[in-house]
Amino acid sequence: MSIYGDYIKSVIRTVPDWPQPGVNFRDITPLLQNSAAFRKLIDSFVHRYQEMDLDAIAAIDARGFIVGAPLAYELGCSFVPVRKKGKLPFRTISETYTLEYGEAEVELHSDAFKQGDRILIVDDLIATGGTMLAAAKLITRSGGQVVETATIVDLPDLGGSRRIHEAGYNVFAVCS
Ligand code: AMP
Repeated sequence: MSIYGDYIKSVIRTVPDWPQPGVNFRDITPLLQNSAAFRKLIDSFVHRYQEMDLDAIAAIDARGFIVGAPLAYELGCSFVPVRKKGKLPFRTISETYTLEYGEAEVELHSDAFKQGDRILIVDDLIATGGTMLAAAKLITRSGGQVVETATIVDLPDLGGSRRIHEAGYNVFAVCS
């Protein structure tokens, strides 16, 4: 957890039963509206990754982009969008993963980075870990080196971060 973890957690709103009954949705919009909090959030990631010699930030569609773009700018590395199926216009490679009901797919442009590039994957939240793990597998398959997976919020009770860790990837969460 980051030094600002408790503070960041305090400005994230939980919306019960959205988008469906039983889900406690972690809404980061109050955090984004608060410029001091948003700066502390980005600073938390910058602080952790500034000495890690990263080549690219791979950010997961869509809330991962909110963190990934300023982080890539600040660290001076490239930005790689990992998108939901059907959004990328050029040649893609994809990874399918299982949701509670059905399947989903994440895609990457085949020329998104160079072989051996050191890559950080970012998203807003890890629940079951399916999305992050699919992104990590996709990047590994494409020849990238996943240095770490990072999220604003981890929901450890859902087991996702443990699952990602067991698959061999580091996990960093600003708060849980
Ligand atoms: P999962 O693949 O189950 O780890 O789900 C993570 C992805 O779904 C992230 O991209 C999140 O944006 C979104 N997500 C899942 N559960 C929640 C939640 N409770 N609150 C906010 N976003 C969620």
